[in-house]
Amino acid sequence: MVIPPLIEHKRDGHALAPAQWTELIAEYTADRIPDYQMAALLMAVVWRGMTTDELAALTDAMLASGDRLRFDGYALPRVDKHSTGGVGDKVSLLLAPMVACCGVAVPMMSGRGLGHTGGTLDKLESIPGFRTGLSLREARAQIERIGCVMLGQTPEIAPADKRLYALRDVTATVESIPLISASIMSKKLAEGLNGLVLDVKTGSGAFLPEPARATELAQTMIALGEVRGCPTVALLTAMDRPLGRACGNALEMEEAIEGLRGDGPADLMEVTYALGAEMLVLVGAAPDLGAALRQLEDAVSSGQAIKRFAQMVEAQGGNPAVVDDPGLLPQAQAVEVYRAPSGGVISAVEPRRIGRAITSLGGGRRTVDDSVDPSVGFVITVKPGDTVKANEPIASIFAKDAEGIATGEAALREAIVIGTSGRLTPLISHRITSRGVETLGAKA
Ligand code: URA
Repeated sequence: MVIPPLIEHKRDGHALAPAQWTELIAEYTADRIPDYQMAALLMAVVWRGMTTDELAALTDAMLASGDRLRFDGYALPRVDKHSTGGVGDKVSLLLAPMVACCGVAVPMMSGRGLGHTGGTLDKLESIPGFRTGLSLREARAQIERIGCVMLGQTPEIAPADKRLYALRDVTATVESIPLISASIMSKKLAEGLNGLVLDVKTGSGAFLPEPARATELAQTMIALGEVRGCPTVALLTAMDRPLGRACGNALEMEEAIEGLRGDGPADLMEVTYALGAEMLVLVGAAPDLGAALRQLEDAVSSGQAIKRFAQMVEAQGGNPAVVDDPGLLPQAQAVEVYRAPSGGVISAVEPRRIGRAITSLGGGRRTVDDSVDPSVGFVITVKPGDTVKANEPIASIFAKDAEGIATGEAALREAIVIGTSGRLTPLISHRITSRGVETLGAKA
């Protein structure tokens, strides 16, 4: 395959033929196209976009580069949720066991922290012994036993995406709606799902902050899912402040355990229940969103959800005792209360600043080979619009040492802005399906 004319064609704003994308991905996966040529082509896509036919061919080729989770002979419907990434977003940890309690299997494939955002795999691995590197065979066996499994992208799933994603990460070619859509959907379609719910984040802490771009991303992924037999629905949710209170791997795990016991922060529980209800309705496990909500609430209040979570932890090599004693999670050496430097109204709690600070404290990666310190992070108890008094405790910093505490304080001084006014934007602003975009209530 001769690549420069294809790059030139794309660079000049023309579409490649679907068969050319199919061959490009097969050749790249087989190491017959060098990274520098693929990077140039990806940059041309960032600038020029893709037609619907190109995107379909790219997604299918990435999906075909690997294997799929197979559920032949398995009776229960399968559904997953995917978030486009945020700070304090521990929803997946609650959703998988909650939804599994409602008679639906959840084969959940998640990622690691990316940029300023946290990753579900890192949060899970804060539980001593927890193994996320399962094979497809192990995943299928666990689904049959427990109804939910949480794993990383295996080498068998969409290997073309794995390589392309690593290349995009270092060539400033992540922020492209067709490339993000093909990347996410090639992995999700490999999970053998009957339905997929997307949590598309908007606001300053999202990868695509503008609601219009987030909507376009959601619609692109919905279209890809629908025509491939995977009905897909999206909720647009706020990421202009962290979700919940805890930010940082072990701290978020502890908050997720509280949520599974019915004691999580209101915003976290609202997003979790809304996404979970969509999951149940999508695969026909509940007749409507109200009934689905009641099933999920029952799963939590009956204690079934936390029990299912403990079973999953044990099945994946983790210590299930963390469920009753979160003190078994890694604990920070230094903890300090952060007080409001002045009185007033919280006008911002900036997620990007918080996410970057977690990385500075050692809780995220600067390079792919970095290990993470699961114990560090923040618990922030204020939201935009809250009134605070000077010197009132509004957060806690969890760090390795006194230097980390100082780094955390400096970050919170920048991230938590106190002024004279502040407003909480709607937590769940839109519901998007193949039929259109619905604006939801202004409830924050
Ligand atoms: N997550 C993915 O899996 N792929 C992207 O391109 C962006 C976020």
